[in-house]
Amino acid sequence: MHIKTARKVVLWSMILSVACAVIGLVFFEPGTVASLYVTFAAFGLMLVSVIVLFTACRCPWCNKRVTHGLMKAEYCPHCKKDFDTGLKYRKKKR
Ligand SMILES: [Zn+2]
Repeated sequence: MHIKTARKVVLWSMILSVACAVIGLVFFEPGTVASLYVTFAAFGLMLVSVIVLFTACRCPWCNKRVTHGLMKAEYCPHCKKDFDTGLKYRKKKR
């Protein structure tokens, strides 16, 4: 999985997980079957995001894990290569 796909998966599974938790708290009585389902869904989605974060969020070039600043990183913090092109990142010249 490409890192940019992986981070979209992480982001959306986290959003959906929180959404499930909120929906469960707001719309369902605690202890009912429906609230149990949304709780499971929330935990499941959270688990998915954590698993994807730790398995798929790797640099395609040096294969090191990228977690810090993942959501906006355009290049690898370890080898400084662009995720798409593989070119060395350079600070923009003025
Ligand atoms: Zn790298």
